[in-house]
Amino acid sequence: MSTTRTAISPRRAENFPSWYQEVVRAADLASMSHVRGCMVIKPWGWGVWELMQRELDRMIKERGHDNVYFPLFIPLSYIQKEAEHVEGFAKEMAVVTHHRLEKRDGKLVPAAPFEEPLVVRPTSETIIGETMAEWVQSYRDLPLKLNQWANVVRWEMRPRVLLRTTEFLWQEGHTAHADEAEAVAETLEMHRVYESFARDWLAMPVVAGEKSPTERFPGAEQTFTIEAMMQDGKAVQAGTSHYLGQNFARSAGIEFTDVDGARKHACTTSWGASTRLVGALVLTHGDDDGLCVPPAVAPHQVVIVPMLRGEDVDAEVLDYAREIATDLRRHATRFGPLRVHVDERATRPSDKKWQWIKRGAPLLVEVGARDAAASVVSYRNRFSPAEQLRKPFAEFVATAAAELESLQDKLLAQAQRRLDENIRRDITTRAEAEVFFKQDRAGFVLAGWCGSPDCETGLKALGVTIRCLPTRLGTDAPCLPCGQTSRHSAIWGLSY
Ligand SMILES: [Zn+2]
Repeated sequence: MSTTRTAISPRRAENFPSWYQEVVRAADLASMSHVRGCMVIKPWGWGVWELMQRELDRMIKERGHDNVYFPLFIPLSYIQKEAEHVEGFAKEMAVVTHHRLEKRDGKLVPAAPFEEPLVVRPTSETIIGETMAEWVQSYRDLPLKLNQWANVVRWEMRPRVLLRTTEFLWQEGHTAHADEAEAVAETLEMHRVYESFARDWLAMPVVAGEKSPTERFPGAEQTFTIEAMMQDGKAVQAGTSHYLGQNFARSAGIEFTDVDGARKHACTTSWGASTRLVGALVLTHGDDDGLCVPPAVAPHQVVIVPMLRGEDVDAEVLDYAREIATDLRRHATRFGPLRVHVDERATRPSDKKWQWIKRGAPLLVEVGARDAAASVVSYRNRFSPAEQLRKPFAEFVATAAAELESLQDKLLAQAQRRLDENIRRDITTRAEAEVFFKQDRAGFVLAGWCGSPDCETGLKALGVTIRCLPTRLGTDAPCLPCGQTSRHSAIWGLSY
């Protein structure tokens, strides 16, 4: 192991889970709050999420969906209507049972019980279904394509900041269609949207595929997922898209009169991606000096730190720093106009430098009096922060956008290489799987599955599940747990 000092301790190789917590803290992304299982998202973390939201929202609207907002509280009776849905979420539901507080013996206590308790939304299929039933009368009202940006609550026994929290933020799309073919096409289209969003914006390559039955969304006919591989070889389910068939349409009564005059139930879909993507970004692009934010979602793509020393030249240094920023802002990458920040705080320059390295600002410019005098720009690229680079002012300004795009491409290539190298095809028996998954940073196994429910959960004792039945990867290998002829190719792995 190298003895070079790193900004994050422990390093990834020493203790990966602690390293993750430390990067989230040191990069000022988020922290767990005093409210159990709930997090505070800090400005830098929120900035990243906001940029993710902005692009995903654009991609969603571009496909004809409208944004809406539904209540946070869902009457218990709505949830009860879809049996599988209830079963799937029952253990995670937060329930509001009272309103009004009263003082008794000097203490505030809930006073008035509800006749019908309210569930704090874990997801909105039921409540949106009830409203769709009112909005949809005829085939002319279809398709109905809605999306909501909201917070949801699922009671977590083992919370982990950004990856698994009791309250998290997401978008949830909900659509209703006249027939199955159109609804399935919608489900697959949004699955593709998540895949390309993860690759093109988050530099996070994924394995796309369908979930096996036990991993499906409760109440869905089919669930499609994108599974990203983190640096420790575990999977993060980074976005899911569900074909719900007529299950929720039946329970909520989404019926319409078709062209032929017949009354039919609509076919519905839902799909979501959440703030856990910010956690996945850390586990994908973090290093021993902190986070490296892909330029596409970096709140500041270029941070300029003027080296102010309380001397007369400070004014010139500051002017020069602002001039660089102004000129840079006239340029754009393929992700939009450059986002440039001049850090004028009174903090010591070296502290500022390290703070921005840990946060993962893609380009970091340090401006000193000599740079200002010589009209040069000294900077670091977060991909190799130890290397001090120098360019003449005009050249730096003219090439910064290209350098950011190249950084984005390098992050994707690095993650793609890691994914490709760690999908193993040579692990084909249960005995091999038992050895393989016990090692550190095991990765994914592409092997077979015979299709039986017993084998689907056959490696649970190892913590290993079928992450997906991949769309574009295949193998002739036998079923990993039982060794019989397989009916499906499957990605087996550990997951967050
Ligand atoms: Zn089997």
